[in-house]
Amino acid sequence: MIDHTHQPDLRSWVASANGHGDFPIQNLPFGIFQPRGETRRGGVAIGDEILDLARLRDSGLLTGDAQMACALAAQPTLNAFLGLGPGPRRALRAQLSDVLKEGATPRHGLLHAMADCRLHLPARIGDYTDFYAGINHAEAVGRLFRPDAPLMPNYKWVPIAYHGRASSIRLSGGDVRRPNGQRLPAGGSEPVFGPCLRLDYELEMGVWIGDGNEQGAPVPVAKAADHIAGYCLLNDWSARDIQAWEYQPLGPFLAKNFHTTISAWIVTPEALAPFRCAPMARAESDPKPLPYLFDAEDQKEGGFDVELEVLLTTAQMREKKIAPHRLSLGSSRDLYWTPAQMVAHHTVGGCNLSPGDIFGTGTISGKSREALGSLLEITGGGKEPLQLPTGETRTFLQDGDEIIFRARGVKAGCASIGFGECRGVVTAAPAA
Ligand code: MN
Repeated sequence: MIDHTHQPDLRSWVASANGHGDFPIQNLPFGIFQPRGETRRGGVAIGDEILDLARLRDSGLLTGDAQMACALAAQPTLNAFLGLGPGPRRALRAQLSDVLKEGATPRHGLLHAMADCRLHLPARIGDYTDFYAGINHAEAVGRLFRPDAPLMPNYKWVPIAYHGRASSIRLSGGDVRRPNGQRLPAGGSEPVFGPCLRLDYELEMGVWIGDGNEQGAPVPVAKAADHIAGYCLLNDWSARDIQAWEYQPLGPFLAKNFHTTISAWIVTPEALAPFRCAPMARAESDPKPLPYLFDAEDQKEGGFDVELEVLLTTAQMREKKIAPHRLSLGSSRDLYWTPAQMVAHHTVGGCNLSPGDIFGTGTISGKSREALGSLLEITGGGKEPLQLPTGETRTFLQDGDEIIFRARGVKAGCASIGFGECRGVVTAAPAA
């Protein structure tokens, strides 16, 4: 899977790409952009620029499968491109790398300054499923409610998930309206209706589904990686007080469906190949995955090692020009189930997936205090407020607070790549 497109010393004639924190030539993530006054179409992030795939399609520079894939990726949504599967996507990556590398003829006419473009959701998202594969998060949250038995007995057998709401997934950068809903006041016996008082974020990765499957035709775990088109960052905004009152017996509903934020760029499995690793080691006493969830290759390198960072700014911090405050730094290694196991489990009963569906991995938390992926965990269920540089404190999010996620693959001997930001500012609830 590692080839010439990953060479750490590979440089681009796009000057801003060289040494870029997120989008050096080794990354080449796909997204949908819109230059001012023009129509939306597919593009590739390279440094501070976007390579226009519609212009590249018409340039005559590409051949074969790469040209065919480019024509689909140039459309106003990436669904058809995602559905192609890995072969044509890899062919396009190889030729994109050749077009953009240092030594190739510079073609500035193919580029737009990212700052001058509007970004859009990369695909029409038909379905969204949120997993719960962050075992440290599941344990920490379980402990708040069930100190003696934090993990449910099914956790190490079943990749737990709920079907989420695709319609309210929004791109990074938008406002996030605090939801109204029912909550049960402490010690009360009847709910009150009004703005959520315990608004939280959840640090997750998003998994973009590529090639789908027919209903009734499960995807075997050994083939599951071929159905994943890429990854992004995902904030599963959560109203903890609404959740606590509504979640039994059928799980999250209005506590989660008001808004989900994702980062704009689809980072491909090819770009992430250098950062693959073995999935989290299972304890001796843990059950072995059932055969439909077990694949030797997936057990060898079905996980990946990406640094995940969460930052907070308050309105006061932005006014005083104080740098964002880091809430956590963790790693995607803290997932109990691999993305391939999620695909295999999701489809094993016959459920069909389609190009442009998205999974959330579940909140990713480490074991240490510095690596917790939600305020619920950082503040011990709202009991231990955190201190900010302004002297402000927080248990849960207040209006004007902005949450920023960043992710980065870092490994000795490899070029680092990033995901671009996933951010949102909390705004006041609508009048109840
Ligand atoms: Mn979640």
